[in-house]
Amino acid sequence: MVILVELEKKSTNLMLFTQLGLRSELTEAVKTKGYTEPSPIQAQAIPAILAGKDVIGGAQTGTGKTAAFGLPLLQILAESEFKTKRPRALILAPTRELAAQVHQSITDYGKRLNLQSAVIFGGVGFNPQITALSRGLDIIVATPGRLIDLCRRREANLSAIEILVLDEADRMLDMGFIRDIKKILKLLPKNRQNLLFSATYSREVKKLADTILSEPVEVEVAPRNATADRVDQEAFEVRQKSKRSTLSSMISKGKWSQVLVFTRTKHGANRLTTQLNKDGVTALAIHGNKSQSAREKALASFKAHKVRVLVATDIAARGLDIVSLPYVVNFELPNIPEDYVHRIGRTGRAGLSGKAISLVSETESEYLFAIEKLLKKRIPLFQYREDDDNLEIERLSSSPPLHSRSNNRSHPNQSTNSRPPSRKRISQRNKTGRKGNAGSDANQKSRSPTKLQDKTPEPRRWKPRKIRPASMK
Ligand code: AMP
Repeated sequence: MVILVELEKKSTNLMLFTQLGLRSELTEAVKTKGYTEPSPIQAQAIPAILAGKDVIGGAQTGTGKTAAFGLPLLQILAESEFKTKRPRALILAPTRELAAQVHQSITDYGKRLNLQSAVIFGGVGFNPQITALSRGLDIIVATPGRLIDLCRRREANLSAIEILVLDEADRMLDMGFIRDIKKILKLLPKNRQNLLFSATYSREVKKLADTILSEPVEVEVAPRNATADRVDQEAFEVRQKSKRSTLSSMISKGKWSQVLVFTRTKHGANRLTTQLNKDGVTALAIHGNKSQSAREKALASFKAHKVRVLVATDIAARGLDIVSLPYVVNFELPNIPEDYVHRIGRTGRAGLSGKAISLVSETESEYLFAIEKLLKKRIPLFQYREDDDNLEIERLSSSPPLHSRSNNRSHPNQSTNSRPPSRKRISQRNKTGRKGNAGSDANQKSRSPTKLQDKTPEPRRWKPRKIRPASMK
């Protein structure tokens, strides 16, 4: 049986952390973090987890899901009378960065409780992790590969796990961790509480949920595969070879203070980083070929505003939590549409607004099409034109698909019979749409002199959003 919580009712009433049944050590900790009220996923998941239920959480990134499972998990462990040196809670995450971030949150939330935790991931030495395990731990936050290595060496013993959390389950499956997850499941006691969080729902995630969860409470704070409501999304038609100069210009002229840029490849990330630095825009790269310490250093410099741009690949940037990040740029569109959702979820977090900009070249219209299909909405498309002391944007006609979306598939919002006329191909536009020549195809575009200026971040308060209850089954 699936128990559905009354999402609408719970989320629309203003709620306080103290009303969720949390201990004072935890409500004090969230107060110290500056949270004034629970986010919707927290309001729904915390009571269910405290009641010992399995939970499946459909939460897009930035919704506060870490505290949604972290706070009740800490409380359950703190109140348990069963004491052992073996870990009692296991949180699995797809990337080292996410594991480190989750561990940091667990440490912050639990600092008034007498619980020990450690983070375990590859790319760093075994010894500190082995030492932590041998001293005795309550909570392990881990990526699957290194945890299995430690279990094989008999350094980690998972036989006392009471609570299992799969964080960003969709990404773990995308990254091919299913076999590792199955191996880990075999090492856990059968009788345990299971929590699974995923931003998107594929058939594989559902299958995994079905095998792990028992009578789960479903909590979902946004329509499936939806992007954060507060992220303002725009796309710009840019030729591949002009992308770098366009990006430099956008950043400099828009006075963007902090921007996370996604490239499709590690090599592309390195090249773009070098080019941006040559243009006088400080940048660092973060991707899987960098050592763990280089990745940590790059992220720390970016978070501390020592560099303006962090150029990342999808895997490295997964789960990154950068407070008040105002801009995300897709230098190249991802070929997996779900990755777009994760990328832009780096901004617009914790109820703040953000902007996601995609630079779309002549070869990427199919990717944009696939993303719009997944989102079931159009992303406004503009043409970027550089002006001497100004940054001008030309809005392209709002409804037709990008370039010539040549195949016969219709957009989800658009009936096949009433397809709008296709836009000019980018090659044609470049002949007519140069600076000072905007009037030549005035019928195709209406000018919108938007200025992309940096903005001051809003205060750190969760702004309640409308919640749609939706079953995941
Ligand atoms: P998460 O989705 O768990 O990665 O959280 C995203 C961001 O929201 C993090 O920076 C958290 O510190 C922040 N956050 C979590 N819960 C709240 C809350 N109730 N109020 C304000 N910020 C929060």
